[in-house]
Amino acid sequence: MEAIAGVKLLVEVAANGTPIARLVGDDDSSLSANMKHSYRVKIDSNLMAETDWPRGPPTAKNSKGTKKPDHGMLPISCPEVKQQLADPTHRTKCVGKAFFSHATKSKKENKENLTKQDCQRIKVNHGYFLKTHCHLPIKEMHDAAPSIINHHFNDHSVCGKWCPYSLFLPEEERKELSEEESKKRYRSKIVHLPMYEKCTALMSRFITRECLAESAHPYHSQTNEALNQSVATYAPKHKNYSKTPSLKCRVSFAAGVHSVSMKGFVSSYCERVGIKTNSATKSFLERRNNEHINKAAYLKKLSVKRKRSRGKKLKQKESFKSERKETKQGITYQTAYRMTSGDDKNYEDNSDAEQGERIDGVHLFYI
Ligand SMILES: [Zn+2]
Repeated sequence: MEAIAGVKLLVEVAANGTPIARLVGDDDSSLSANMKHSYRVKIDSNLMAETDWPRGPPTAKNSKGTKKPDHGMLPISCPEVKQQLADPTHRTKCVGKAFFSHATKSKKENKENLTKQDCQRIKVNHGYFLKTHCHLPIKEMHDAAPSIINHHFNDHSVCGKWCPYSLFLPEEERKELSEEESKKRYRSKIVHLPMYEKCTALMSRFITRECLAESAHPYHSQTNEALNQSVATYAPKHKNYSKTPSLKCRVSFAAGVHSVSMKGFVSSYCERVGIKTNSATKSFLERRNNEHINKAAYLKKLSVKRKRSRGKKLKQKESFKSERKETKQGITYQTAYRMTSGDDKNYEDNSDAEQGERIDGVHLFYI
């Protein structure tokens, strides 16, 4: 659906004489694959040789590497997007996903004992790094990239200004870190060497020059995410409006309100269709407009942003704490927790505990 809309948009915009040079999007979107010319069509039109079909890395069975799938949907007449960029916020999410997926593996696979707290902190470091380095030349960005992991292991030698202990900060702004504090706050490269090596390996694919170049820009696609939320308010996902005029009206209303505010959109609509608005309606729209403007200004305040961030951190801390407690008590959800045989990886972790003594629910299954 998203891909079809994206291709249609690209064709329409190009037809109006504005070919798109750069596109900022999510990493896991199929859109980038679909917004290309089909390899088969290019070969048939003599624009590409059969031997130039892009291939994946070589495998044991296929030394040449398997052919990449042909998902291109863009007509040959429409030029391809020259540069595909990544949304920095979404790139940080991808980094978090890679780390969290390792941290939630069984103890056999997660030998380094990487915890969710470690992952969360590295994810935050990555976000800070991208926001503070995206305007720098790629070489500088690439040289500073190891700081994302090094900072977590108490090495602040290449940290940027996002770090309170950064050497690039003026002395009066730089914080001092005692040995005792550093032990409490950070991991150690010596004591936690296997974890450091694992984190460096997990991060390596995100800090290559090519990968960093995709995030080195001041743009983002978070406005689109906000618009998604707005559309979901008028057209909730649990209700089926599929292909009805109601869905079109609801999406159009969300887009109109997002573009010119509710007051502007409703007033303009009423004027066009000849509906007279009374003083009560005008007063209501005025109040909504003011509320919206004041709320937006309040949320943009630095002190409010910091307060929000503190609240978020506190919530995460409490959530991790309660999760640890629940894991200790054995009341967390785990795949195939009850199974006494099979090849589920989680079974091995729980095999040393006595069956039927974990939680009341388990007893019920065995009776
Ligand atoms: Zn640092």
